[in-house]
Amino acid sequence: MKIYNTMSRSKEEFVPIKPGKVKLYACGPTVYNYFHIGNARAFLFFDVVRRYFEFRGMEVTYVQNITDIDDKIIAQAIEEGIPFSEVAAKYTFAFLEDAKRLGLKAPHFQPRATGVMPEIIALIHALQKSGHAYEADGDVYFATASISQYGSLSGKKVEEQLAGARVAENTKKRNAADFTLWKRAKAGEPEWDSPWGKGRPGWHSECVVMSRQYLGETFDIHGGGVDLVFPHHENEQAQAYALTGKPLANYWMHNGFLNIEGEKMSKSLNNFFTAREILAEYDAEVIRFFFLSKHYRSPIDFNRELIAESARALKNFHAAFKSVDFLQVQDSPSIGGYESAEREFNEAMDDDFNTAKAIAVLFELAHQAKSAELPMPERIAAAHMLYHLGGALGFFQSLEEPAQDINHLTEDLINLIISYRVSARTEKNWALSDKIRDDLKALGVILSDTKEGCTWTVET
Ligand code: AMP
Ligand code: ZN
Repeated sequence: MKIYNTMSRSKEEFVPIKPGKVKLYACGPTVYNYFHIGNARAFLFFDVVRRYFEFRGMEVTYVQNITDIDDKIIAQAIEEGIPFSEVAAKYTFAFLEDAKRLGLKAPHFQPRATGVMPEIIALIHALQKSGHAYEADGDVYFATASISQYGSLSGKKVEEQLAGARVAENTKKRNAADFTLWKRAKAGEPEWDSPWGKGRPGWHSECVVMSRQYLGETFDIHGGGVDLVFPHHENEQAQAYALTGKPLANYWMHNGFLNIEGEKMSKSLNNFFTAREILAEYDAEVIRFFFLSKHYRSPIDFNRELIAESARALKNFHAAFKSVDFLQVQDSPSIGGYESAEREFNEAMDDDFNTAKAIAVLFELAHQAKSAELPMPERIAAAHMLYHLGGALGFFQSLEEPAQDINHLTEDLINLIISYRVSARTEKNWALSDKIRDDLKALGVILSDTKEGCTWTVET
């Protein structure tokens, strides 16, 4: 299998660290607002990466973080007139709901930055002790000149970064390319105790901590949108090199942008549609098809005509299932005779996730399933293969049994709500902590605080 590695700027043979296992990390959302359909492209693509490896029989560990402390969250808290932790809680729930609606499989681990604060502080401290970071007036910076590899991921030379540096230079830095690891607290902002006084971490350390915690010192694949190559991923990789001399990940994968009228869809340009809005208009499966019909590294323009085309294509697939009464014949998974379709599909996907080519195989199968000229058992076999291969891309979830997954999500959501109550109690925000307990009770979820932590039961 070949993967385009941003690090080498070429397609490379994928060799996992441990045969048969894939350790995958993709940067998750910053929870200060509903996520937009451009973010959805990134989340959806890495969902497909995970699904395809699983489809090929690999054991995947997929970690996606949630950034729940950040300047933008603080700004939103001021705007909404609520504590920052409530902004983070509100949009974390919204993210999980929308991710579920989008048909994303829950990652194996979904840690939050505020949940690993001691580990982040320890990492920055280790960087400082080994001479890769320095303190200046309560802030801590990474010394980019202290490692030879800086710039290797993004291909940016340190001089270029200097040229691009802001005119109003931060005089506390030794080098314009140095980046912030820890920010000294400002009045009214959330803060944590640290060896450098009260403050909070910059964005780049949290992903190093959370990825290594679940996946090990060097793992297989690190992903995100192409806007993250520099500075975020360059700066993550820099910290790993400084700590161990080894890369953080062996393969760096980046999806292209969803554009709108030729420009990147982004919150700051205010040219976005939230995933929530779009999912009210179109089926999640249509959006999935729309994204996967193009190669993940190519930019895609948000285009309603193309979305309508995706809807038509999916109708065609569902018509194929209907034509053989698929739901009635599910118990006889005879997919023999179509092995060559599976081979072709795998070949496309093995070539750096060429989903567009893989979808062409699905079209051919749908055509065969509907073909009146073929004998029925053959058509049924084509429909089974269509279902089998489509599943590797996350299609046809409506034909699956939903019950189990929803139970899982409910449990995850309750545990998440409880973790926010724990944060509220740590902040001595008793009013919020009580409100969470009472609101859950009103829904029939009873919390009990024990020495071991908070447990819950559902009132019957
Ligand atoms: P953020 O919440 O801004 O950190 O973004 C979450 C993910 O969405 C990251 O992987 C970004 O690279 C990705 N992303 C942001 N905007 C777009 C876009 N317009 N198209 C594709 N991916 C994007
Ligand atoms: Zn990240």
